[in-house]
Amino acid sequence: MAKMYIAGESVDSVSGQTYEVRNPAIGELVDTAPKGNVDDARRAIDGAAAAFDEWAHTSAEERCHLLFKAAHAVEADQKALAELLTREQGKPLQEAGTEIEHFLHGLHFIAGLASKVRGAHVPLPAKNSYGMVVRKPLGVCGAIVPWNFPITLMGTKVGPALAAGNTVVVKPASTTPLTSIRIIELMNQAGIPKGVLNVITGPGGVVGEELLENPKVRRIAFTGESATGKHVAEVACGDFKRVTLELGGSDPMIVCDDADVPKAITGAMVGRFWNAGQACLAVKRLYVFDKVYDELVKGLTSKVARYQPGDGMVKAEKPNIRMGPIHTAVQRDEIEAQVKDAVDRGAKVLIGGARPEGKEYERGFYYMPTILENVPDDARAVQEETFGPVLPIFRVNSLDEALERANNSIYGLGSSIWSRNLDNIETAIDKLQAGNVWVNSLHYGYDELPFGGVKASGFGREHGPEALDYYLEPKGVVITR
Ligand code: NDP
Repeated sequence: MAKMYIAGESVDSVSGQTYEVRNPAIGELVDTAPKGNVDDARRAIDGAAAAFDEWAHTSAEERCHLLFKAAHAVEADQKALAELLTREQGKPLQEAGTEIEHFLHGLHFIAGLASKVRGAHVPLPAKNSYGMVVRKPLGVCGAIVPWNFPITLMGTKVGPALAAGNTVVVKPASTTPLTSIRIIELMNQAGIPKGVLNVITGPGGVVGEELLENPKVRRIAFTGESATGKHVAEVACGDFKRVTLELGGSDPMIVCDDADVPKAITGAMVGRFWNAGQACLAVKRLYVFDKVYDELVKGLTSKVARYQPGDGMVKAEKPNIRMGPIHTAVQRDEIEAQVKDAVDRGAKVLIGGARPEGKEYERGFYYMPTILENVPDDARAVQEETFGPVLPIFRVNSLDEALERANNSIYGLGSSIWSRNLDNIETAIDKLQAGNVWVNSLHYGYDELPFGGVKASGFGREHGPEALDYYLEPKGVVITR
C-alpha cells in the first residue's frame, strides 16, 4: 500500500482509510493510497512549517547541491517510475518516460538557478542612506496537481519552491498519486531535510481545501480546471496567500497559405493527440488557409488513421499504439458529449468520433482520435476546453479572420502560427491573446521559458527563471550610516 510522506516519514492517514487507484487502460488495481483528511493535511502543513526556517537559511549552494542529488536519485529509478506512471495514468510507456525526463530536465534547470538568486543595491536620495532589495522565501507552499501530467506539473511547482528556500506540501490528483509519492520518497532519501517536501493524498475538497484555508500556508500553486481555479483563488486570497493558477486552454493553431504543410501536420498531430489530448497546452482549434486546407486535412487524417489506442504497457509489441485510454469514464463521457453537440449542430466527422471496437477495449475508457470539420463557432468544442483527442478544423481566408476567430475564446494559454512570412508572424505574435505563441513550432512547454495563461487560462508563470519570482518576496531595506 502506498503511503503519504509527511515530515520525513511514510505514514497512513490518521483515520486508517484508503482508496483504490486503478489502471484506466485495463481496470486492474494498481495500488491503494491513504484517504487523507483534514488532520493529515494539518500534520503535513505543521511539518512543513517547522522545517521552513532552517531550510530558508540553508545556503543557496547547499540547496542547489541537494536538488541535484534528488534529481540523480529519481534518474536512477526512471524506468520503474515510467511504468508506474503508465499504470496509474494510462499514457503509453514512451510518453510516461518522456514525462519523467521532462521532470528531471526541469529539476536540473531550477537546481542550477538555486544558487544564482540575487537582490539589489539601490541608491537613495536620503543622506548617508542606501536601499537594498532582499529576496525572501514565502514559507509553506501548497502544490495542487492534476492527473494529466502528474509529474511534470508537480515538478514545475516543487522545483522553484525548494530552490527559493520554501517548504512544500504536494496534493496530487486522487487518481494519480502513486508516482508522485515515490518521487517524493526518493528526493527525501537523497537528503532533502525532514519536513521540507511532503505529500498528502485524499479528496481535493478535503485535504486540498485545507491547504487553501490553513493560514500557515503562504502560497498556492494550482493546475487544473478553470472553475476549480476560481474557487482556489477565492479561498486562498481570502487570507492573502500568493496564488498562481495554470488553468484550462483552447489553443488555436493558424496555418497560413505559405506554411510548410508537412511540418504543420506533424505539429497538429502531436500537438493534439499527445497524452490522448488530455493537456491544457494542446492544439484544440486548427484554422487553415483555404489554399492549403485540402492538402493539410488529407495529410493529417491519413497520419491519424495510423493511431491505434491501447494499453500503454504493451506498446513494445504493438508499435501503432500511440495513445492510451482516456483517464476516467467521466472524462470520456464529456468528450462524447462535446462531439455529439458538434455533430448535432452540423459538424462532419472526418475520422474517429466513436469508441474503438474490440474485446481489448472493454475494460478501459478508450476513444478514437477524432477530426471534425464544419464545426460552428458556438459549439461546445469551440467554446469550451476539449480535454481529449478531438480536433475541429476550420477553413479561413485571411490572417485577420484567423486571428479574430482564434481570439474568440475565454481562454488564452497557448497559440501558434505556421508561416514563412515575417509580416504574418509578427502580426500573430502581437495579436494572439495568449500567454505563449509558437512560430512554426510544436506547442511544448520549455523549462527555459516562462509559461502561463491570460484570460480564463489563469495568471502567474511557471518554468523559466521567472518561476522563481513567484516563490520569493522582495523585501525593501533602508540602511542609514
Ligand atoms: P480539478 O481542477 O478538479 O482538479 C485538479 C486538482 O485540484 C486535483 O489535485 C484535485 O484533487 C484538486 N482539487 C479539487 N477540488 C479542490 C478543492 N476544493 N480545493 C483544493 N484542491 C482541489 O480537475 P479534474 O481532475 O476534476 O478535471 C476536470 C476537468 O478539468 C477536465 O475535464 C479538464 O477539462 C480540466 N483539467 C484541466 C487541466 C489543465 O491542465 N488545464 C488539468 C486537469 C483537468 P482531486 O483529484 O482529489 O479532486
